[in-house]
Amino acid sequence: MFDVNEFDILCEKVQKCVKCPRMCDSQRVLNRSGGSLSADIMFVGEAPGRLGADNSGIPFHGDKSGHNFEELLEFAKLDRSRIFVTNAVLCNPRDEEGNNSTPTKIEVQNCADHLAEQIKFINPKIVVTLGATALESTRFTSSHSLILREDVRTANNWFNRILIPLYHPGQRAMMHRSFANQRSDYQFVAEQLKRATKKQPTVKNLKVNTDIIPIVKEILMSMSSIDYFKLHKLYYLVEYNYFKEHKERLTNAYIVRQKDGPYCTDLHILKLKKGLPELEIRNRNGNLFVGFSTDMFRTYKHMNGNKGETIKNVIAKYGNLSNEEIKTKVYLTTPMRNFLKLEKTEHMNLYNVPIIF
Ligand code: URA
Repeated sequence: MFDVNEFDILCEKVQKCVKCPRMCDSQRVLNRSGGSLSADIMFVGEAPGRLGADNSGIPFHGDKSGHNFEELLEFAKLDRSRIFVTNAVLCNPRDEEGNNSTPTKIEVQNCADHLAEQIKFINPKIVVTLGATALESTRFTSSHSLILREDVRTANNWFNRILIPLYHPGQRAMMHRSFANQRSDYQFVAEQLKRATKKQPTVKNLKVNTDIIPIVKEILMSMSSIDYFKLHKLYYLVEYNYFKEHKERLTNAYIVRQKDGPYCTDLHILKLKKGLPELEIRNRNGNLFVGFSTDMFRTYKHMNGNKGETIKNVIAKYGNLSNEEIKTKVYLTTPMRNFLKLEKTEHMNLYNVPIIF
């Protein structure tokens, strides 16, 4: 952790900032009321509200947005004493009538160094942005191409930490994101926090789903080396086709809908390596490939029966497709089409939801 005095020095520096003409006389809301200086998680809002942080000196406290935010935290059992809360712009921007207004791009940019320094000092494992302005502001700290509408409630590797874009908890944003949906967003954040702060399981403690091992082996024996991304899609297509043909699942593998399509958690690379010690893992230009050495092929006997038949057919049909092509095929399957339909018509976010066949 950094020297806590450095935080006070930063607060003093912020107090003296006069970069934004319309906020020169405003309160700068950065102080220890933001939360724990050793927090694992940092929430970034837009700017202090007139009736909230500008009045109370505590980010997201005292107005309707603050009330909603605190209710969402409570719902997800995230305690304010364990988090740090700040804003993209540290002063309250007001229009000519004295009402809250959105900070301009220049004002966000003016405050960007303050945000970068807070992130550097607190060094949270997770940064959660609340609303589009907050998401924009993080680009000045380290670039990314996340878009709120598309990337809401996703955990993204960013600048040695995780960045999660969420909607703003204010009343206006509820039009785009219902309170019920926001509750699930905060549960997702709490889950990510648990994961990020959990001791990484050692390979020894990893639980391998032994049901999937023969299936993966059969795929790899037919494909030699395969892009790890493609393995997830192919595995999904094997399960999907088997279910279509036999009205039952091939295995109990846990598959979820992720941004790029189905992801089988049981195919986690460390679990795979543990279940198949002979697996060779290669990194080619940043893409992971898995396969077996040619020696393995000599003695291998392919799987017979219905299972072997489905795998053989799926490989014949999709095995030679590129990652993009197989992704398209996957999105044409019934479970994925249902996800897309619900996401479009009900504006639901279904990332990380299990795929039911
Ligand atoms: N209060 C804050 O501190 N930030 C916001 O974005 C809104 C209200």
